[in-house]
Amino acid sequence: MCCTAAASGSRSTGLLEATWQGRSHSLSVRRRGNGGSAVRVTIVGSGDAFGSGGRFQTCIALRPDELGHPPHTLVDCGATSLTALRSQDIDPNDITTVVITHLHGDHFGGLPFLILDGQFRRRTQDLTVMGPPGTRERLAQAMEVLYPGSSTTQRRFAVHVHEHAAREATTRAGVHVVPFEVRHAAGAPSFAVRVGIGDGTTMAYSGDTEWTDSLLHAAAGADLFLVEGYSVKPVRWHLDLDTLARHRHHFDCRRLLLTHMSPSALDSDLTDWDTTHDGYTLSL
Ligand SMILES: [Zn+2]
Ligand SMILES: [Zn+2]
Repeated sequence: MCCTAAASGSRSTGLLEATWQGRSHSLSVRRRGNGGSAVRVTIVGSGDAFGSGGRFQTCIALRPDELGHPPHTLVDCGATSLTALRSQDIDPNDITTVVITHLHGDHFGGLPFLILDGQFRRRTQDLTVMGPPGTRERLAQAMEVLYPGSSTTQRRFAVHVHEHAAREATTRAGVHVVPFEVRHAAGAPSFAVRVGIGDGTTMAYSGDTEWTDSLLHAAAGADLFLVEGYSVKPVRWHLDLDTLARHRHHFDCRRLLLTHMSPSALDSDLTDWDTTHDGYTLSL
C-alpha cells in the first residue's frame, strides 16, 4: 500500500478516491491531482507529555504552501506550544483554527496560553477550536485553574468551539476535519483526525491510542499520516512500534511519520521508520 513507496518519493497522479464505508454514512477523500505542493506542514512539537528527548509537546502547524502565507491551523496545542511556536518564528496571532485530538494537557493544554497571548497582544481575529465533546467545558476549567477569571474575560476576538462527532465531516474557517474515535482514556472521547486544507490535501494524525482499525480509516487516502510511535512494546492506551510494524502494510497513505515517542522508542533502532523532530517541515 502506501508507505514505503511514498517515503521514496513516488506518488499517484490524477484523482484517487479513498472511501470508507460506515454503517450509516460514507465519506470520501479526494487526493490532489498533478500540480504544485499545496500544504506546508511544520512539526512544531514532536514530543510526548514529559519532554522526552528535550522535545516540545504535540503541536503541528499547517498552511497553504505559498510564499509569505503564515501558518493558520494547528493540530493539537500541548501545554508547551506557545514557546514551541515562537521557537519556530510562528506568530500565535496568525493561528485561526486549532484541531484537538483529545483532552490531555500535552494535546490541548496550550490553548489557555494561546488565548491569553492574543488578549495581551490585541488580537482581533476570531479563533476556532475543534475538539472532542467536552472541549468547551474543559477549556473553561483549564483557564480558570491557571488564570482565575480568564474564562469570562471580554476580548477583541471570539473563541468559537466546535465539538467533534465521530466520523462526521465538519468544515470551519476553511479547515475540513473528520474525527475517528480511538482508544485512549482522557476523560472524554479521543480521536484520530483527518485534516484537509487547500485543494483537498489531507494530513491524518493518530493522536494517542492503542491499536484500533480506526487508524486505517483515518489514514485512508491521506497525503501524510502522522502516527504515535510511543513505545517499543505494547503499553496501555498508547501505540507501540511492534504493533505498528505488524499493521504497517495495511495503511493506505502516501507517507507515514512517527511522532510522540517516549524514551524507549527514541533509544530504539528507528532506521526502518520515518521520524519527526521539532521543526521538521515538509510539503504535501
Ligand atoms: Zn493522551
Ligand atoms: Zn500525548
